Amino acid sequence: MKLDSTVPPPASRLRNFGVNLWAEFSSLANEHKATNIGQGFPDFVVPEFLQEEVRKAVAKPAANWYTRAQGHPRLVKELATEFSPLFNRNINPMTEVMTAVGAYEAIYAAITAFINEGDEAVIIEPHFDCYAGDMELSGGKLVRVPLRPTGDEKFAKNWKLDKEEFEAAFSERTKLLITTTPHNPVGKMFTREELEYIGSVCKKHNVIILSDEVYERVVFDENEHVRIGGLPDMWERTLTVGSAGKTFSVTGWKIGWALGPANLISQLQHVSSCSTFTAPTLLQEAVAGAFEYERGVAQTDESYFKWLSAQLQKNCQMLADAFSDIGCTPVWPDGGYFMLVDTATMGWDFTDLKTGRCYDVDCVKWLTREFKLATIPISVFYGDKNRHLAAKYIRVCFAKSDGTIEKACQIIRSFKKK
Ligand code: PMP
Ligand code: GLN
Repeated sequence: MKLDSTVPPPASRLRNFGVNLWAEFSSLANEHKATNIGQGFPDFVVPEFLQEEVRKAVAKPAANWYTRAQGHPRLVKELATEFSPLFNRNINPMTEVMTAVGAYEAIYAAITAFINEGDEAVIIEPHFDCYAGDMELSGGKLVRVPLRPTGDEKFAKNWKLDKEEFEAAFSERTKLLITTTPHNPVGKMFTREELEYIGSVCKKHNVIILSDEVYERVVFDENEHVRIGGLPDMWERTLTVGSAGKTFSVTGWKIGWALGPANLISQLQHVSSCSTFTAPTLLQEAVAGAFEYERGVAQTDESYFKWLSAQLQKNCQMLADAFSDIGCTPVWPDGGYFMLVDTATMGWDFTDLKTGRCYDVDCVKWLTREFKLATIPISVFYGDKNRHLAAKYIRVCFAKSDGTIEKACQIIRSFKKK
């Protein structure tokens, strides 16, 4: 980082921060006016029931004021009602739920609340980038364990942890295990058996689990979203993070939450109350209304969650078909927003990887520049040691409108003409 010598230098905890991945690739997409199937944000029109919840909320005077710091009362009650059956327990809305400015804030608060300088967190690679940044801000160290394709690597469910490697990652300094299901970027949903195993290792080492489940509502076929915090003996050590942005396809609303036992949640609240104090009351009120609405129509054809999974699976299939048509192999996801695509057959040369040059980054930039199609490289979700595992993959997001998906498919099929 180039420093301006006329002012004091930034805190040393920022020493390794450069241009943020999302800022870099989103501005590239905008610069080239590219069709964006990179960044994970749905570009659908907000459904009428959500628009109505905002109209109702803004008409209530108190919904425009500061609200309870730990979470807007109506929303924490809704979240407790919604999630109690899913965790098979009575969640206390006042002590076991915290709302936040997106899942981002809940993750930041969890890491800040529990990581001291020198503490370690075990993390499953590839992983969403903010976990690494948050650990760095807390002076903690990430110990990364990669998902390794076993058998047919064309299916996300075959990307698995190697048990020996996983267990070797734990030490007496391990404080946290961070896991994501449905997974960003792989699209894997961890099975009950896998989560029971992960939970048993965390219990043995007395480690807190930070379970990022922002894509929990997008589940394909017969897959089941298993909540590790709902498994026997796991609630006590698990913080489960969710996002209204992903749940209702309104990423700009930035309403998230953390669920967990009161002794853990109260620590996150300390961080939150001196950083953001509250998430916007208006949107917490609207999200509460949206959950209430959805509960009223669940299991009917009006269900938003049912529509969302079906729509995204259809989009995913369309993109997978387009990539298959040009000889690129998709890695079929179990759920979530993302699919990996093996670009090796695009004639890209990966031989230089050992020099630290990541061809997936070049490939993504080339696609954005030459074809006006924005995607995301995978190597950015790895640490240095395992980055080579990612060389041939790019990530595409299928949480997009019909128009965006159709345009993207057209562009992909045009690759072979150049
Ligand atoms: N976790 C994961 C895995 C994500 O992909 C994202 C991006 N939406 C977040 C957390 C942050 O969610 P939010 O937008 O609610 O802050
Ligand atoms: N979570 C989204 C993704 O993985 C977007 C993150 C962001 O834009 N900061 O694409």
